[in-house]
Amino acid sequence: MTHSLPIQDIASFIADPVEPADFPTLTLRYWNARWAEETGLSDLQEPDQLSHFGRFAPLANNLPQPLALRYHGHQFGVYNPQLGDGRGFLFAQIQDTEGRWLDLGTKGSGQTHWSRQGDGRLTLKGGAREILAANYLEAHGVNTSKPFALIETGESLHRNDEPSPTRSAVLTRLSHSHIRFGSFQRLAYLEQTEDLARLVDYCVCYFHPEADDPDMSQKTVNLLAAISNATGRMIGQWMATGFVHGVMNTDNFNITGETFDFGPWRFLPVSDPNFTAAYFDQQGLYRFGRQPLQGGWALQQLASALLPLADAESLAGGLKPYEQAYQQSFIAHTHALLGLEPLGDANSDTEFLQAFYAWMTNSEASWPQTFFDWFCGRESEPRAAASPQANLYRQDAFTPVREAIIARKPTRPERLAHTYFQGVHPASLLVDDVESLWAPIAERDDWSDLQAKLDHIEQARQAFAWRTEPGNIRLP
Ligand code: AMP
Ligand code: MG
Repeated sequence: MTHSLPIQDIASFIADPVEPADFPTLTLRYWNARWAEETGLSDLQEPDQLSHFGRFAPLANNLPQPLALRYHGHQFGVYNPQLGDGRGFLFAQIQDTEGRWLDLGTKGSGQTHWSRQGDGRLTLKGGAREILAANYLEAHGVNTSKPFALIETGESLHRNDEPSPTRSAVLTRLSHSHIRFGSFQRLAYLEQTEDLARLVDYCVCYFHPEADDPDMSQKTVNLLAAISNATGRMIGQWMATGFVHGVMNTDNFNITGETFDFGPWRFLPVSDPNFTAAYFDQQGLYRFGRQPLQGGWALQQLASALLPLADAESLAGGLKPYEQAYQQSFIAHTHALLGLEPLGDANSDTEFLQAFYAWMTNSEASWPQTFFDWFCGRESEPRAAASPQANLYRQDAFTPVREAIIARKPTRPERLAHTYFQGVHPASLLVDDVESLWAPIAERDDWSDLQAKLDHIEQARQAFAWRTEPGNIRLP
C-alpha cells in the first residue's frame, strides 16, 4: 500500500487481517454501475470485477489484506461480547466524487475468528433481497448502504429460513463507515479508554468533522450529538417509507446514520404499528411502531460506552438532538414522499401526519399505492380517481385527509410527467413481490423479473429526483 487509508489510524485495535474464502465458481449477478462511476471503479471489466469482488484481490493502493472488524453489541437487549465480522470484512476504503470516505465491506466472504458456529456464507437469495431493499430505500431518499457487487459462488448452504440446500453468494456493499455503536461498546467493555478516544478522533476526522473540538470530552459529546442527529434522521425516513429494519441490535447501527444489516427487512403492505419483520423476533421488540424508541435506546447504549470520556450529564445533552431530528425527519420525509411542502408550522404538520397515518391504519389502504396516488397532492386528483383503491378515497373518512393534502403546495410538480408516475402501480417491494421475483431464479435461473423490478425502482429514483447536499443527504 503506497498511501495511507483512514482505517490505518485504528486498525491495530479494531480489526484483524483475514483470508477470503476460496469459492468453487464465480458468476457475476449484480454490478452497481452508477456507484462504480461515483467511486472511480467504472473501468473494471468482468474478469476484474470477479477477481476483486469474488476472490478479493486487493485494489491498487488499497488494503493489502481484508480486515475483519471487532465489535460487541446488544442483541435483542442482551449484551453479547462475542460479536465481530463473522462472515464479512472490510475489503477497501475509497473516496467518492464528493470526497466522502466509503468502505467496501463484504457479506458472505468466508469464516473469520468471529464466525462462532456459522459458515461465514450468505445465501444468494439473501444477497438478492439486500440489493432490492437497498435500491428501494435509496430510490425513496433513505440514507442507506449501497449494494455494489453480488457474485454467486457455487456452494450449497443450509438455512432454517430458506428451502435448503440453497445457493451461495458474496455481496460487497458501500458504506459511509462500518463503525457501529457496538464498536464503542467493545472498547468500553474492555476498558481500552485510550483506544476509545482514538476511535472518537477517527469518527470525527473522517465522518463528522463538524463535531471537532480541542477538548476531548466536548468532542465526544459533539460526536454523540452528531450521531443522534443522523440516527433520528434515518429513523424518520424509515417510518415515512414504511420500512421495517428487523434487527435493530446495537451492532447494526452505523455512526453515520446509514441503514445497514437489515437481513429480515420488510416494507409495510398497510399501516400497522405492530408489524414485525423477523420471524425470530417473537416479542416484537423491533416491530414497526417501536423503531423510533429502539433507536433512542441504542443511542443510550452508545452514550454509556462513552462515559470514560465525558460526564453523564454532558452525554445526556449529546442525546438530546435525537428526538427532534426524528420528528423533523418524519414530517419532512412524509411530505417529500407525497411531493408536498410542509406548511412549516410544526403543530399543523404534526396534526396532518396524525390524521394521515390514522386513516392509513383504519382504512387498511395499501401503503405504497397511497403515496404513489397522491404524489404532488392536488395535481394528482385525476390519477387518484383512477387508482385501484379509488373507492377508499371516496369514503367520508378520507375527506379531512384529502383536504390537508390539497391544502399543501406540490413540490416540483413537473416530476409527475415522469414515466414512473404515468403507471398505475408503484415499484413496491412487499413480501409476496419478493417471493415471486425469487421463484423464476430458483426454478430456472431466470433473472429477468428481478431485473425488471430493479429497473422499475430505478425509474422511481429518477422520478423523485432527490437533490443532494454534502454528505449525500437527500432533500425533497
Ligand atoms: P447479523 O445478524 O448479520 O448482524 O449478524 C450478527 C453476528 O452473527 C455477526 O457477528 C455476524 O458476523 C454473525 N453471523 C451471522 N451469520 C453468520 C454466518 N452464516 N456465519 C458466520 N457468522 C455469522
Ligand atoms: Mg450485524
